[in-house]
Amino acid sequence: MASIHDTMLMPEIRHTELFIGGRWTPASNGKTFPTINPATEEVLAEVAEGTEEDIDSAVRAARDAFEDGPWPRMDARDRGRLMHRLCDLMEEESEELAMLETLDNGKPIRDSRTLDVPGAIETLRYYAGYADKIHGQTIPVRGNRLTYTRREPVGVVGQIIPWNFPLLMLAWKWGPALAAGCTLVLKPAEQTPLTALHMADLAQRAGFPDGVINVVPGDGPTTGAALVRHPGVDKIAFTGEYKTAQIIMREAAPTLKRMTFELGGKSPNIIFSDADLDAAVPAAHHGLYFNQGQCCTAGSRLFVQDRVYDAVVERLAEHNRSYKVGDPLDPQTQQGPQVDKAQFDKVMHYIDLGKEEGAQCVTGGNRVGQCGYFVEPTLFAEVTDRMAIAKDEIFGPVLSVLRFSDLDEIARRANNTFYGLAAAVWTRDIRKAHYLANKLRAGTVWINCYHVYDPAAPFGGFKMSGIGRELGEEGLAHYTETKTVTVDLG
Ligand code: ADP
Repeated sequence: MASIHDTMLMPEIRHTELFIGGRWTPASNGKTFPTINPATEEVLAEVAEGTEEDIDSAVRAARDAFEDGPWPRMDARDRGRLMHRLCDLMEEESEELAMLETLDNGKPIRDSRTLDVPGAIETLRYYAGYADKIHGQTIPVRGNRLTYTRREPVGVVGQIIPWNFPLLMLAWKWGPALAAGCTLVLKPAEQTPLTALHMADLAQRAGFPDGVINVVPGDGPTTGAALVRHPGVDKIAFTGEYKTAQIIMREAAPTLKRMTFELGGKSPNIIFSDADLDAAVPAAHHGLYFNQGQCCTAGSRLFVQDRVYDAVVERLAEHNRSYKVGDPLDPQTQQGPQVDKAQFDKVMHYIDLGKEEGAQCVTGGNRVGQCGYFVEPTLFAEVTDRMAIAKDEIFGPVLSVLRFSDLDEIARRANNTFYGLAAAVWTRDIRKAHYLANKLRAGTVWINCYHVYDPAAPFGGFKMSGIGRELGEEGLAHYTETKTVTVDLG
């Protein structure tokens, strides 16, 4: 029987080297690492692994481009135009980008095509429009003086991104940095370097000056850490685990770098008995199982009010029974494999813990097949706040459903976590919705919806879920320094 792959045009992996100062180069010590297709466990490519020396070269290239190159000095409108040109090329090669993303990450091709690639383009275009709209203020001060502020680029930025949305996270990082006139060194996650390398190629073809964009793949403790420590880097923008952020904060302390962190979550999704269940249940399902459960905003603590608890669990189970898990290149597939063996093992460990701790495993709980890191969509009912599956970020297709009875109880329980990334409330009662929207300690609160993002809407975490915001005007502000200029008019 013909496989789906026979009818698909596989993308050529054109770039596996480091992109530094406008040139493709092997690692200084010649080392490479394999990037693996998580659906087949096959090696897709050997990719150059950036050393400390390579990071130094990349930072120098970015520093030269910042201090002496045309980029920060160019007409801001031309910077915007180049960013739009990059987006035009992304549109032309959107299928190639989508395929590379799916091969490297395992996410269903329909998601890569409809969410990751268009979302990355939309974000870059949003910030392209900002390039010529970054302005300061004139400020009335004491005396006969003129005081005004300029918003200048923060400088050379080190950007470290995770593997769950490789292209989208790149766009969230590149968009504001480029619009502000910064130069950058990006370190993609070791599991998913391919789309970032392709983007470096597109940026070069779009006409970005050498050194503005540098891409150095490699692992966290070597390549990432070298970037964090480098005195030539002014700011680190990081998305990943809070434990990594703690290391980065320590490592960046001697050079007092500016830092923005977008970290994990254990987001409460709260369904009241008066909610429209026809909307709430599919959204709660998508809120957790989308992207194989590998979202920092995953609605992994689903609180359901007593009266509708059993009905919601049953409807979620039905969704899981018909959920299509399998080959991510099949356009019908809804859930692909976990990104790698380590994540797969972690998810299976938590499933075992859930069972041991006495939660009721309603669906799933097992591996799918013997090849690839596929996990059944797993649903645990009768989960209590103290269980590990209700406390820890699992980052997999494992949904915990908890019971609650009243409003004050749920506000307290929903906030009882050191995370604070997102939360959602489902109710037809506008007072309850707003009461909780105010009360919940989270950077994003959705009312009667889930997983809604927009390049214009700030995104980030309270508590241990992050520092600073990405997207929107606030996201841009983190890539600028304010300079106050005072002129004596006396
Ligand atoms: P995950 O568990 O989702 O892979 P991590 O926080 O480990 O999350 O990884 C996110 C990104 O941070 C990746 O690009 C990874 O290589 C990088 N990273 C990991 N450890 C470090 C470190 N010590 N210093 C800098 N970057 C790191």
